[in-house]
Amino acid sequence: MSTRLDFFIDRMVSQRACLDFGIAQTADMQGPVFELGLGNGRTYHHMQHNIKGRDLYVFERAVASHPDSTPPEELTILGDVRETLPAALTRFGATASLIHADLGGHNRAKNDAFAQLISPLVEPLLAVGGLMVSSDRMYFEALTEMPLPPEAVEGRCFIYRRD
Ligand code: SAM
Repeated sequence: MSTRLDFFIDRMVSQRACLDFGIAQTADMQGPVFELGLGNGRTYHHMQHNIKGRDLYVFERAVASHPDSTPPEELTILGDVRETLPAALTRFGATASLIHADLGGHNRAKNDAFAQLISPLVEPLLAVGGLMVSSDRMYFEALTEMPLPPEAVEGRCFIYRRD
């Protein structure tokens, strides 16, 4: 049986592996990168240090991150993603090279319902060749689910691509 600690470690290892994969696969693209859910800012910090030459925008309803992991104001899109994602489509169009989403809490059913709700808001933002890395299974119409990198654990992270 997997313990909560096992589950947590698998999620963190998978998150890093999938992010590293997503960053490397989209490294030649110029479009912006979107971090959906800042939280403590650990994944933001990882992305900020590993992504070069692309704007990294953070979508968050209330910034409460570690001081070392707080994005500049001009790259912070404050508010509920149910409102800020449609506004981002008007502002950016289908230009995002990489989108990472980690918006969930402890309730898996709620996370799944929220992933269903925001999938149609995320999907049109991705440029052709762009990738979406998510902690929750998403419900996209036209994006292709990709195999995970070897270090990641099935079901703990998901990667989608716009062909
Ligand atoms: N990946 C982050 C890290 O490494 O520290 C953790 C993200 S934390 C699990 C989820 C974040 O998503 C929280 O800060 C929460 O405020 C944000 N969030 C959840 N639902 C949201 C919504 N509807 N709109 C905007 N932000 C939301």
